[in-house]
Amino acid sequence: MREIARTAGTPTFVYSRATLEGHFDRLQTAFAPIDALLCYSVKSCANLSVLRTLAARGAGMDVVSVGELQRALEAGIPADKCVYAGVGKRDDEIIAALEAGIGLLNVESEAEFENIARIANQLRTSVRCALRINPDVDPKTHRYTSTGKKETKFGVDLERARRFFQQWGHHEYAKLEGLHLHIGSPIYTVDPYVEALKKTCTLIEDLTSDGIEIRSIDLGGGFGADYESDQSPSAMDYADAILPLALPLKSRGIKFFLEPGRSIAANAGVLLLSVLYTKQSGEKRFAICDAGMNALLRPSHYGSFHFVWPVRPADALVPPTRSSALSMQGLVAQDIVGPLCESGDFLALDRALPPLARGDLLAVFTAGAYGMSMASRYNSSPLPAEVLVSGDRVALIRERETVEDLLAHERHVTALL
Ligand SMILES: *Cc1c(COP(=O)(O)O)cnc(C)c1O
Repeated sequence: MREIARTAGTPTFVYSRATLEGHFDRLQTAFAPIDALLCYSVKSCANLSVLRTLAARGAGMDVVSVGELQRALEAGIPADKCVYAGVGKRDDEIIAALEAGIGLLNVESEAEFENIARIANQLRTSVRCALRINPDVDPKTHRYTSTGKKETKFGVDLERARRFFQQWGHHEYAKLEGLHLHIGSPIYTVDPYVEALKKTCTLIEDLTSDGIEIRSIDLGGGFGADYESDQSPSAMDYADAILPLALPLKSRGIKFFLEPGRSIAANAGVLLLSVLYTKQSGEKRFAICDAGMNALLRPSHYGSFHFVWPVRPADALVPPTRSSALSMQGLVAQDIVGPLCESGDFLALDRALPPLARGDLLAVFTAGAYGMSMASRYNSSPLPAEVLVSGDRVALIRERETVEDLLAHERHVTALL
């Protein structure tokens, strides 16, 4: 980490190739009995080198925009191994996906399907579609990332799903033949998957009696990652719960997809920061770092916990503690904050850490997923660099942005000013 900080600077996201591959392989093994195609969720960590690493293990890609589809294609993943979800696909995005030969379009509403069907007709291009169903199960996760409850904007409910297939299940070009679920993230128990899949099985029976054959089921993503401790079920735990319901469907010839993102990328990455200043304000101690919510939005956006620790070999790594374990030897409660002009700009609050000093390096753990991909340029902060580590080799996989990059698209307008 010190060496990376010296050469690449900070803030920098550092990813481990071995961890990316390890998580992917464990999922692949766990779900081998249903021969599921693992479509990695590009939005969790979208760097081309990360996509290439996973593609080399056989991953397909789950994309939610044409930007992400272009990334996947650029990384060498064939379009027919890509599945495309999202409640607001623009016409130009649908056209691009059809022309590329997308593997599966996941449809979120009647209005969207009508539009896809119209475009497919016009282009005389057939496309496989799956209906995203909203099974109304509670994934018991943050309200912002809970996506399978009735009141959310995603998918269509089960009663409407049956009518949807009756009306649209026989379209010539837009071939509606699959079901898609993605109920939220992160989901720390297996029960919501079981509940959602049971409801899906009932729907499939109803559709069969309507004379409609389902050829694919995409179970989405949402598997947990260990942010604090061993809090998440393992790939095998999820599979043990899902397979008993999925195997009979597989033996009927149904093809399975999964869309894991976080469970692969989250703890394959750390965010490397430098402490710029320390400050005492009344009772409070602050360590002010060279990035905060601009690099890692999750703590301020979702109230998420990320383990933070100084990059100092002398300080043994102690188990994560949520708040002031002041009794622990030599630790002091501190807020780890960024440089931005917002009180919401923090990475950790009231955290027991060794005393910090200007120039210390900090590692923010489990930052690989929804870190760089949610990073912003707020306060005209150039985006961080990204580095991939493989064994003892280190490669810069995205250069740090410069202020010139930030200004590149702006124009001097003389007519108005
Ligand atoms: C975000 C998303 C995923 C990935 O979720 P993770 O929790 O990162 O596994 C999968 N599918 C869809 C449709 C998504 O929107």
